[in-house]
Amino acid sequence: MRDPAVKTTCPYCGVGCGISARKGPAEVEISGDSTHPANFGRLCSKGRALGETLNLDGRLLCPEVDGREVGWDEALNRVASGFRAVIDEHGPDAVAFYVSGQLLTEDYYVANKLMKGFIGSANIDTNSRLCMSSSVAGHKRAFGSDTVPGSYEDLEAADLVVLVGSNLAWCHPVLYQRLRAAKETDPRKRIVVIDPRRTATCDLADLHLPIAPGTDAMLFNGLLHYLSQVGAVDRQFMNAHTQGREAAFEAAADSAPSLEETADACALRREDLETFFRWFAAKDKTVTVYSQGVNQSSSGTDKVNAILNCHLATGRIGRPGAAPFSVTGQPNAMGGREVGGLANQLAAHMDFDPDDVARVARFWQSPKIAAAPGLKAVDLFQAVGEGRIKAIWIMGTNPAVSLPDSDRVRDALASCPFVVVSDCMRETDTVRFAHVKLPALAWGEKDGTVTNSERRISRQRAFLPRPGEAMADWWIVTEVARRLGYSEAFQYRGPAAIFREHAALSAFENHGQRDFDIGALADMTDDEFASLRPVQWPQPTIRQQDPARFFAEGRFYTPSGRAKLIPVVPKPPRHRSDSEYPMVLNTGRLRDHWHTLTRTGKSPTLSAHVSEPTVEMQPEDARRIGLQTGDLARVRSARGELIARVRAVSSQRLGEVFVPMHWTDHFCSRGRVGALIDPTTDPMSGQPESKHTPVRLERYPIAWRGVLLTRDEVKPPAFASHWTAVRGKEHWRLELVGQGDPFEVFEETRRMLAPDGTDWLELCDTGLGVWRGAALTDQRLSACVFLSRNASLPSRSWVGDYFSKTSVPHEQRLAVLAGYAGDERAESGPTVCACFGVGEDAIVCAIRDRGIVTAEGVGRSIRAGTGCGSCVPEIKELIARNSLAKNAA
Ligand code: SF4
Repeated sequence: MRDPAVKTTCPYCGVGCGISARKGPAEVEISGDSTHPANFGRLCSKGRALGETLNLDGRLLCPEVDGREVGWDEALNRVASGFRAVIDEHGPDAVAFYVSGQLLTEDYYVANKLMKGFIGSANIDTNSRLCMSSSVAGHKRAFGSDTVPGSYEDLEAADLVVLVGSNLAWCHPVLYQRLRAAKETDPRKRIVVIDPRRTATCDLADLHLPIAPGTDAMLFNGLLHYLSQVGAVDRQFMNAHTQGREAAFEAAADSAPSLEETADACALRREDLETFFRWFAAKDKTVTVYSQGVNQSSSGTDKVNAILNCHLATGRIGRPGAAPFSVTGQPNAMGGREVGGLANQLAAHMDFDPDDVARVARFWQSPKIAAAPGLKAVDLFQAVGEGRIKAIWIMGTNPAVSLPDSDRVRDALASCPFVVVSDCMRETDTVRFAHVKLPALAWGEKDGTVTNSERRISRQRAFLPRPGEAMADWWIVTEVARRLGYSEAFQYRGPAAIFREHAALSAFENHGQRDFDIGALADMTDDEFASLRPVQWPQPTIRQQDPARFFAEGRFYTPSGRAKLIPVVPKPPRHRSDSEYPMVLNTGRLRDHWHTLTRTGKSPTLSAHVSEPTVEMQPEDARRIGLQTGDLARVRSARGELIARVRAVSSQRLGEVFVPMHWTDHFCSRGRVGALIDPTTDPMSGQPESKHTPVRLERYPIAWRGVLLTRDEVKPPAFASHWTAVRGKEHWRLELVGQGDPFEVFEETRRMLAPDGTDWLELCDTGLGVWRGAALTDQRLSACVFLSRNASLPSRSWVGDYFSKTSVPHEQRLAVLAGYAGDERAESGPTVCACFGVGEDAIVCAIRDRGIVTAEGVGRSIRAGTGCGSCVPEIKELIARNSLAKNAA
């Protein structure tokens, strides 16, 4: 009999899609939960491929102390004694926790309670600091609370949707799909994308404003001034419900006195800017969605407030189809905000003012609660590096990759006397620094809640058994808390008990004074928690399917009850390009990868979309530097460097480059973009300026290149000067380049792949500069290598497919060595449609051979784009390029 399906929530982005997971005989079947209000059954490519990420390869399954496997008791005692020794000698501010938007709310809650309420320091910060802390700071300045007032259905109800610094199509794909469907239903709906890059999201846009980086505040100040000039502000709303209007309008008029000047400052065409301003003035139902492009800036909070000002000035808040809407990157960034995972928040959306501190202390019965904010992420790791923090516990995140100036973060961790890491993976760049490694449960094994971007709390439920010695994060934290002497306050039977306490704290002495109130959930039984359906907050007294809309009555959480318009003086990015570093580096996500690849890097399907770090730039820039698509470039900043494959694309602005954020030392010798980023932060939010780093580029010299495929994961050979690793189906692939003599490299590779007795075939042509070899074990391909001084290398998907074959007959062995399929259709190229595994070459073939001119036509012909739809913009781009090429021919 088949196992019943378990309803859970996707562990990736802040959309928070519902998932139905069912254990099949061979693997877990994943599908969208048609009853979940975030996705109604839809999933994107990442969600669909979750089944490929659930194996135990690379998992940390046993606690370790100083490299020795130990029992839980010894590991937990070591953590507690290590922290206790530092606290006793140097005080509570000499220790820190660095936590994650991947944690469940219950994990987050107990970690925050232990650090702030019992250790007595607020040195707990979360990787959500890198994601949306500027939005938190902006919300609090404007609303008096960190309230996201919108819901996903507002995007569908709006007449105008403005997407600012948000590549929704790749970073929040199911929300993008909902928007696309709404636009198809109502083509009069206008969509504006404000982004320096022409991203996949622009496929849906009626208007794309390729704004100069860092000028968002200028643009929205210009809009505020325009709205005032054309009489499009809502005086009645402003008079009744806002304050600070005059100063905000004055600052807007001063910085952006005319359309022309605003357009010039933002490097936009005047007509385009005017079109956007006119649409905004005319469309009462407007939603402005923004994310990291706004937040990750040295003036991110001001940018957020410049956006909020426009919504407050027009009264477009608290109504269906009218809201400013910050979408979160991580699955539980919002849950982290609820529990106080940020160092400058307390718990349940309370602050460090004396009343809140006393209230939380009463509720927790804390012996010594922290009374002041702690160190924010960048400052926290600087304090580690300076020796002020002597013990740190990192939970479920990889700061050695993801923080700016990541080489200094590594130095800091290497010098820290006591580093504890709880993680589900054994070999992350951060775990390497740990004195104590604690095996945590992964998605599919753990149980609790997450909150998505629209404040919807959903259950993550376990459908897999607990592997090895791995334990839930909440359990690990509470066991350490008990060993530190706080047993009484950390007596939880499970996540349901923690959730009840969290809900009760939200309602404690609240009386409608705080936005976050889920008191109606505080009396849930364990059974009710087990079957909890997705529920949006607030839920103050009675559980409701459709809770009250925030700010519908025009009451805000400031002392006066009025929202504040904030005067914004636009500031340029902290570091500007110059003759030494003439270009500007932008970073962000790719469609099919997530964070530092610990999960999506396991999926052959997802790894086939973009399999190595790339640097995108304008063809004109590439030509000027002497680069072209396919070359390797070295990208240097004042902080560090990386090597990436060049993609010359028209979607970039001149003088700007884009490098994705995902690669780590586990997957690439030099691909960490964090190493290049300056640790400059926004003074209010502490969020780093990850979108604007001056860099210079140069060709990376190589004497040879090659590809090595093995059945099992192998360490990259030392003779390669640069490498990238990719998980393929039943194989592991290393893309290699080097400087030495390729013949010697080939000989060394042969010794590595074919020790005595292994069936080895080779085909070498020194004149042509090609060396090829294959090892077979029991008729199956176990490894192969292709090295080339100048000739092309074989299709990776084609060679990779041989690892799935039960035998390689003699007649096919020559083809393997020749690196040629002998049949063009067999080569599919890099994956475009992850849902149906359709590659670029196959799509181009269909476009050219069958004269297809629409994405729908491609879908009908070869299915590409008919799954989740995330690849439709790429298919359209291929059609545009290849139809043109054909016409030109
Ligand atoms: Fe998961 Fe986000 Fe994709 Fe939904 S849109 S399936 S939450 S990654």
